[in-house]
Amino acid sequence: EPVIVAIDGPSGTGKSSTSRAVAAKLGLSYLDTGAMYRAITWWMLGNGVDVADPDAVADQAGKAAIVSGTDPAAPTITVDGMDVSGPIRTQQVTAAVSAVSAVPEVRQRMVDLQRAAAVAAAGGIVVEGRDIGTTVLPDATVKIFLTASAEARAARRSGELKGAVTVAATQADLVRRDAADSGRKTSPLAKAADAVEVDTTQLTLEQVIECVVTLVEE
Ligand code: C5P
Repeated sequence: EPVIVAIDGPSGTGKSSTSRAVAAKLGLSYLDTGAMYRAITWWMLGNGVDVADPDAVADQAGKAAIVSGTDPAAPTITVDGMDVSGPIRTQQVTAAVSAVSAVPEVRQRMVDLQRAAAVAAAGGIVVEGRDIGTTVLPDATVKIFLTASAEARAARRSGELKGAVTVAATQADLVRRDAADSGRKTSPLAKAADAVEVDTTQLTLEQVIECVVTLVEE
């Protein structure tokens, strides 16, 4: 049985860095499901879809062809064959992604693609997101739920954004996105009953990676 590692939690907890490093260390594939929701959001914005209108988003949910490359050393994401790794990280996409990802038709499509990627990864996979342990891969071998204080998360995120945005603005954005992601009706951000919670507030990235590797190897 290939190992399937589900890593969930809000942003700013070190989820992506941890997931990639764990996959690389253990020789597993890697899937960033947040990048997929960002990619469909980027497509909606570029195609003039009103992202505040769930019916409009639902109507267009099947249009974009999203393909994820699952090598942890060089993860890729394309929409209709175009590399969108850069554009999906803009503030415009970040501001719209929670609304788009709350639409059930969008989630159904992304979940189908995510399950297919897990099946295709014959050597095992690390899948990171918000609902992987609860909804996408409820039979995952190991489930991790990463948390951190609001202050630590905002500091990390604004570090990633290289000072382009203030810590206060970043924290406000995180709080808004957490509320939207946790409050939506379809597969909200949630810790699975059988997930191991790791609070990363006081840990270095290396310590978090080590902790997750140990949990997978147990
Ligand atoms: O992980 P990242 O911050 O890039 O995710 C962007 C957004 O995608 C989240 O705020 C959330 O709205 C959505 N998302 C989701 N389910 C997932 C992964 C991400 O709804 N499994």
